[in-house]
Amino acid sequence: MARIVVIGAGVGGLATAARLAVTGHEVTVLERADTVGGKLGRYLHDTPEGAWRFDTGPSLLTLPQVFHDLFEATGAKLDEYLDLVPLDPIVRHVFPGGGPTLDSCADPAEFTARIGAALGDRAAADWQRLWRRAGRVWAASHRDVLRRTVDSPRDLAALAWRLGDLAAIGPGRSLRGLGRRHLSDPRLRLLLDRYATYTGADPRRAPAALVAVPYAELTYGGWYLRGGLGTLADALLSRCLDLGVVVRTGATVTRIDAAGGRVHGVRVAGTAAPVPADVVVANVDALTVYRDLLPTPRRLAALTDRSLAGFVLLLGVRGDSGLAHHTVFFPRDHDAEFDAVFGDPGRGVRARPAPDPTVFVTVADDPAVRPEGHEAWFVLVNAARHGTAAGAVDWRRPGLAEAYADRILDVLAERGVDVRDRLVFREIRTPADLDAATGAPGGAIYGTAGGLLRPANRGPAAGLWLVGGSSHPGGGLPMVTLSAEIVADAVGPAW
Ligand SMILES: Cc1cc2nc3c(=O)[nH]c(=O)nc-3n(C[C@H](O)[C@H](O)[C@H](O)COP(=O)(O)OP(=O)(O)OC[C@H]3O[C@@H](n4cnc5c(N)ncnc54)[C@H](O)[C@@H]3O)c2cc1C
Repeated sequence: MARIVVIGAGVGGLATAARLAVTGHEVTVLERADTVGGKLGRYLHDTPEGAWRFDTGPSLLTLPQVFHDLFEATGAKLDEYLDLVPLDPIVRHVFPGGGPTLDSCADPAEFTARIGAALGDRAAADWQRLWRRAGRVWAASHRDVLRRTVDSPRDLAALAWRLGDLAAIGPGRSLRGLGRRHLSDPRLRLLLDRYATYTGADPRRAPAALVAVPYAELTYGGWYLRGGLGTLADALLSRCLDLGVVVRTGATVTRIDAAGGRVHGVRVAGTAAPVPADVVVANVDALTVYRDLLPTPRRLAALTDRSLAGFVLLLGVRGDSGLAHHTVFFPRDHDAEFDAVFGDPGRGVRARPAPDPTVFVTVADDPAVRPEGHEAWFVLVNAARHGTAAGAVDWRRPGLAEAYADRILDVLAERGVDVRDRLVFREIRTPADLDAATGAPGGAIYGTAGGLLRPANRGPAAGLWLVGGSSHPGGGLPMVTLSAEIVADAVGPAW
């Protein structure tokens, strides 16, 4: 039996803790915030109309089998904890300039038919061809990437090569390039481009192999959890506590102690005695690990390509808007949006709030999250991460967040959905707020934005492991949960 400390109670940290506890280890989770869940956050708000309950992070659950596997591995049934609701449409796509909308769904033949009806036969045939290729990429990535430990940069390079090889996608081709080559309709290209943002990347630079992301979503489905996605954090916490994991909130780890090339504990702010550990699992961003907790310049130097962040509005809305669960409103100029969000520091172009961004709106038809006769809106816009460097925006600049929130409501009105007169209240969450709430540097949602090439799970000192969205195999709830499986398997059982 090893004494294991997990730094951070995000989904990756809790999932690893549960898996390690069930195999006999003594596990302690140290979380700096006063609640668990990390980016899977919640905001509760009471008004005279009643109680509102918002997810402030994820709104779409994909690859549910990953979560079934997790619960089963820890001796429980997912359905006893969570109420999974399949979505159709998964996302309603509203394209610039009006015209038909396109509803995605988890039945590939039906989705192709919907593409044909909305965008024409040629678009449907294009999609079918792309889909066959996407299937091969998914099969390869599932086998070679998602369930494997990545120990070193050399492993990562080998994986990238194998994927490119198997998928017959030229190494170096971007997701954008893939769309250009296969999709003649610019609206389908927009749809494909958007999946780059699931890893925090710019579609013009994200690897073409990310075509596996829509494949997984549109094959295995998109799901809502009744009561909000935050119920997943409750369920994981409950699993951990049942398995004897000690979860300490309000405990900020300031250092990982290592000697002779091996970890032996961590330091917690405000307490003199170190917490001893044979194994340390860091669920915090890899940047935090290599810059602050166990300074490792060589590994830090590799973390240059940071993910985008998100600007979020939580809206209490009167009445019924008739929107689908998820609607994405595309802008006229997608490139202008990514130019704004990432900037081009090399050419002296600063990042800035995109004036005409893609707007993603989630409205759950769930009485548990809003008062009768009202809607709880989650509005997400791609945003530059917080900071003062050229590739970031100082979201704390006085007046900026309020002005940008106004701008987004105007953009929505221009795209046909005007809620400005129906607001009961609005709350703003900038990338700076996400940084403050979860310790994600700059509010970058996915750590590095390299698509497939993430920091390795094995740390530079023996007994140190990295888990979660900023390390292999990447961000998003299912990937983070898979990273927990990878790390728990690598640590091995106590017996
Ligand atoms: C706005 C938004 C929308 C998203 N939408 C989706 C979606 O629809 N679907 C999807 O699958 N994913 C989505 N994601 C991504 C998903 O939320 C993340 O990939 C996932 O939750 C990350 O989990 P994690 O395990 O990496 O840890 P995190 O959630 O990053 O948790 C890390 C934890 O470590 C703690 N911590 C940090 N520093 C310290 C320290 N020094 N000491 C102790 N504790 C520390 C933090 O407080 C935090 O609790 C979204 C994220 C955001 C922000």
